[in-house]
Amino acid sequence: MLNGKTALITGGARGIGAAICRKLASLGADIAMIALTADEQANNQIAAITAEYHVKAKLYACDVSDAAQCKDTVKQVIEDFGNITILVNNAGITRDGLILGMKEEDFDAVINTNLKGTFNMTQACYRPFMKQKYGKIINLASVSGLLGTAGQANYAASKAGVMALTKVTARELASRGVTCNAIAPGFIATDMTKAIGDKATQQYLESIPAGRAGQPEDVANLAAFLASPESDYITGTVIRIDGGLAIS
Ligand code: NAP
Repeated sequence: MLNGKTALITGGARGIGAAICRKLASLGADIAMIALTADEQANNQIAAITAEYHVKAKLYACDVSDAAQCKDTVKQVIEDFGNITILVNNAGITRDGLILGMKEEDFDAVINTNLKGTFNMTQACYRPFMKQKYGKIINLASVSGLLGTAGQANYAASKAGVMALTKVTARELASRGVTCNAIAPGFIATDMTKAIGDKATQQYLESIPAGRAGQPEDVANLAAFLASPESDYITGTVIRIDGGLAIS
């Protein structure tokens, strides 16, 4: 379904990003994986994808909060692969805490990675997508940005910003054959949610109507649909994938 497409996935070495890399590769897409640090885990991911799915896969170290690095990386990926057709803005961090005690650097770090990082990569791919009159942009938001989860002022604000950015991008690029949609996961079992501790995890699980955490593969399946031509008439949407957590 994605043969001949090149997907650039930020934060592709772990968690949801890693599952998206594997899913898109399993459908035939070549993979340009972005990691903050090109460590052993990231390199192993690339080797596994190449061996299992027989697609081209390459690792790039890039801090998405740095606009110049994003521009250089996108340029390099286009040189290496010929083009980019799918951009998955998945890289994200949390630095939770109540507003009262939240440090300025923690507020800035989360906004810069989650929101500015998504903007930086979108801007870097904007002209190439416009020129080729095709592109699929998939942004990772969060139900936290819909609900305004206590203790996540920085994170919730960044993800609400990602949803707004998704709509702007969709409007600006729709006439050029480019779609842009956001995925808003609920509670997905990754390193990010492992960090919140047993008590908070239990509370989350009790508030999920489906009665379980989501798996990275659940999110990857949705990303694959949004990356495929089957979703060509869907743009500017935010799709929750949360077992009902944020039903309103
Ligand atoms: P994760 O396991 O913590 O992985 C985060 C990834 O982001 C890592 O691969 C990391 O790279 C990368 N990253 C962090 N800062 C970066 C930077 N400045 N530049 C480039 N890459 C950077 O997180 P996850 O749970 O898979 O989350 C993936 C996305 O889904 C995030 O946007 C997150 O906010 C969103 N989300 C997750 C959940 C959930 O329940 N897990 C819920 C809602 C939304 P390194 O490996 O190199 O450190």
